[in-house]
Amino acid sequence: MTTLRNLPSVEQLLQTETTAQLIARFGRPLTLDALRQTLDEIRARFKLNPEAGLPSNESILTQAESTLTAWAASTLHPVINATGVILHTNLGRAPMSEATIHAMGVVSRGYSNLEFDLETGKRGSRLIHAESILQKLTGAESALVVNNCASAVLLTLSALANKKRVVIARSQLVEIGGGFRVPDVMKQSGAKLVEVGTTNKIRVSDYQSALEESVALVMRAHRSNFKIVGFTEEPDFKDIVDAAHTAGVPVVDDLGSGALYDTAKYGFSHEPTVQESMQAGADVILFSGDKLLGGPQAGIIIGKKVLLDKIKKHPLARAVRADKACLAGLSATLTHYLKDEAEREIPIVKMMSLTLKQVKGRAEAWRDELGQGSVVEGQSTVGGGSLPDESIPTFLLELQVKSAEKFLRGLRKNNPPIIARTENEKILLDPRTVLPEQEGALLVGLKNLLRN
Ligand SMILES: *Cc1c(COP(=O)(O)O)cnc(C)c1O
Repeated sequence: MTTLRNLPSVEQLLQTETTAQLIARFGRPLTLDALRQTLDEIRARFKLNPEAGLPSNESILTQAESTLTAWAASTLHPVINATGVILHTNLGRAPMSEATIHAMGVVSRGYSNLEFDLETGKRGSRLIHAESILQKLTGAESALVVNNCASAVLLTLSALANKKRVVIARSQLVEIGGGFRVPDVMKQSGAKLVEVGTTNKIRVSDYQSALEESVALVMRAHRSNFKIVGFTEEPDFKDIVDAAHTAGVPVVDDLGSGALYDTAKYGFSHEPTVQESMQAGADVILFSGDKLLGGPQAGIIIGKKVLLDKIKKHPLARAVRADKACLAGLSATLTHYLKDEAEREIPIVKMMSLTLKQVKGRAEAWRDELGQGSVVEGQSTVGGGSLPDESIPTFLLELQVKSAEKFLRGLRKNNPPIIARTENEKILLDPRTVLPEQEGALLVGLKNLLRN
C-alpha cells in the first residue's frame, strides 16, 4: 500500500539532475522553498484522498518548476493595446520615445551627476536637470519635477496655502480618477477651501467678492474628464488671473494633461496648453509628464521663482521628488518638443497624427494577413483624463467570432496579452494604438486564436 513514506524527501529530490537545473535557474533557497511547498501540498492532497496515490518524482518536480516560474515571474509585463484609447490609464498611459527609454537606461545603468556639480566637484542639485529645458520651452522663471501631478498639487498647496484660504470655482471640485479628488487634496494640504460660483455658472465677480477677504491663492483645476454643457458660463482664464492679480493674489493652474501642442490640430477639441496658461499670467502651473506630454510619470511645476523657491524648500518636496530615471527621461521627451520633432518621435503624438489613410492601410493589411474580418469605420479616443468625450475617426478591424467574451479572454491570455474592444458580439481592433513593433505578435496571437 502506498503511504506518505513513499514520498521522496527534499534531500532525495536534491540529488536529481532536474533539481540541479532548477537551482541553476532560480537559485538554491527559492528552489528549496518550492520543493518543500510542493511536498506539503502533495501530503495534504494525499491525506484527503489516499486512493489517488502519489505522483512520480518527475511530476513532483514539474509542479515545483511551475511554482518557481510563478514566483519569479514579474506580474507587470507589456500588453498590446488594440483598444484605440491612446492614453489608457489602466494600460500604463503614455508609451515613451526611443530617446526617452535610452536616456532612462543610460542613467540607470551606472552613476550619474544627479546631485554632483561637475564644475566645482561639490554637491549639486537634482532640481537643475529638467529645469533649464522647461524654462526654455515655456518661458517660466523656474521649474520643479516631482513624482506625479497629484503630488505636485499636494506639494504646491502645502507650501503656498497651508492654513490659508484658497479660492476655487465649484465647477472645478472634481474627481480626477483613482480617488484623486481636488477638494480632498486641498484639505489634505491644510488649505481652506473657498468655493465660488455654482456648478454650472461662475463669473469674475464671484472671484472678486471672494478676494475681498484675505486669500493665499486662486486655483484653477482643469476638468479633465468631463464636460459641463448647456446653461453654463465661465470667464476667460485671463480675466480670473487679472482679478486675482489686482487683489495681489497669485494663481495656481492645475492643468492635468499639460499639452505643449494644440490637440485641435489632430481633430480633437482644443485642450488648454501650458503656453496659454503662461500667457494668461498663471503664477504656478502644474501638469503631468505621462499624459498629453507623452513622457515618463512625473509632475511638473513651473512658474514664478519666488513661489517655486518656497515649493522647493517645503519638506514634502523631498518626499515626492523625481528619481534620476524620470529626470533623464523627461528631459529627453522635452527635447523632442524643443527640436520640433514630437510628431515623429513621441509615440502618443504620432498615434494622434496618423492619417485615416495610414490607419486604414494597417487594418487592411491585418485583414489580408489573417484572411478574415472586415475593415470598418470607428473612433479612437485619448483617455487618461484628457479630452473628455472626444474622439477622432479611425478604421478598425472587425472580427466575427462565436463568443466575443470568450475570444477577449483568449486574447488576454495571449503572450503578450492583447487588449481589444467588443461591440455587438464582434471584436474590434484599432491599429492606431498598436505599436508597429507589436504588429507581428498581434497577428500571431490572432491567428492562433482564430484557428481554435
Ligand atoms: C490627471 C490629473 C491630475 C493627476 O495627475 P497624475 O500625474 O496622474 O498624478 C491632477 N490634476 C488634474 C487636473 C489632472 O487631470
